[in-house]
Amino acid sequence: MFKINENYLKLPGSYLFSTIGKKVKAYEEANPDRKIIRLGIGDVTQPLAPAIIEAMHKAVDEMGVKETFHGYAPDLGYEFLRKAIAENDYKTRGVSLEWDEIFISDGAKSDSANIQEIFGADNKIAVCDPVYPVYVDSNAMAGRAGDYLADRECWSNVIYMPCVQENNFAPEFPQENPDIIYLCYPNNPTGSTLTKDELQKWVDYALKIGAVIIYDAAYEAYISEEEVPHTIYECDGAKACAIELRSFSKNAGFTGTRLAFTVVPKELKCGEVSLNALWARRHGTKFNGAPYIIQRAGEAVYSEAGKAQTKEQIAYYMNNAKVIREGLLSAGYRCSGGVNAPYIWMKTPDGLSSWEFFDVLLNEANVVGTPGAGFGPHGEGYFRLTAFGTYENTVEAIERIKKM
Ligand code: PLP
Repeated sequence: MFKINENYLKLPGSYLFSTIGKKVKAYEEANPDRKIIRLGIGDVTQPLAPAIIEAMHKAVDEMGVKETFHGYAPDLGYEFLRKAIAENDYKTRGVSLEWDEIFISDGAKSDSANIQEIFGADNKIAVCDPVYPVYVDSNAMAGRAGDYLADRECWSNVIYMPCVQENNFAPEFPQENPDIIYLCYPNNPTGSTLTKDELQKWVDYALKIGAVIIYDAAYEAYISEEEVPHTIYECDGAKACAIELRSFSKNAGFTGTRLAFTVVPKELKCGEVSLNALWARRHGTKFNGAPYIIQRAGEAVYSEAGKAQTKEQIAYYMNNAKVIREGLLSAGYRCSGGVNAPYIWMKTPDGLSSWEFFDVLLNEANVVGTPGAGFGPHGEGYFRLTAFGTYENTVEAIERIKKM
């Protein structure tokens, strides 16, 4: 008789976006004349930039000609894209990477879920709370998270690092030493960042205790402040203790196109074993390469036109973020984020729970956001709004909230 992976049975239901969807649908059906504005989901709305589309068209044409047709892509990514990232991204930030330290994939979601496979089953993980849920769920599936404690909404074998207003949404070093530390900056959902000095302390800490940092920099392109690092490798010693996850989803609108990469420096070792070699083995065995057309599109993000056009799109979203942030502050709400990230994290007013505030906002302003409790227990009492809508809808949503 076959057996299943029983770790899956321990996973709590992932109800957040389906509950939101059901509530919004019910409201729409009962109030068909109302216009709902959605500032909840973290998906982009601007079309792909012209330079990217042009590169995709060219690659599509190549696929229709015998001499330039491409079959399977190299498992780890085409050299042209890996080199473009090393040269036009990291080098411009003063970080020198070899192209074979960069692994191309079809998304940071899968990379962030898969990376735990190269670590031992008894490693202890530490995560921020609130947090992007994939880090914990993927470790739970692998049996590394222990048991789910429903009453406390947490896992028995995970170290949670609360990120709340009192600590400026920045985690503190945990009392118990972790083996794997997940950090995401700019942060989803709180929109917070760490300065280079603050991040350096985490690198020093990881080096001291022999931990590895999984650094998710999916929102790096939204950074506007000088002292905020774009990559963990700006910190001294990071190559010996950190893996970095990056995505083309939010910097260039590839959420539906799918392209990302993971950096595993060769300096990163466990004893004599290179993690770069382990990840190459894992990725090469389980992934059959991102499509040629999409990798050419990714390369175009680094062209002069691609850089200028994607910068403009990010400025568009960040203008929305400013509208949300300033609008909420002027209406007397407490909020943070929205300066180096497309997320605004607001404190719910009058002691409302995050789901209670969700209902108030939906019913009174017809605006949809995301309850903070959906990202972890310390997200309770907070609410996430995103800057990914249109400018017009964003302005209207904030006017409605102000009138509430
Ligand atoms: N990492 C974080 C922190 C995210 O918020 C998201 C998407 O919302 C991802 C990764 C997923 O990125 P991708 O679209 O490349 O899978």
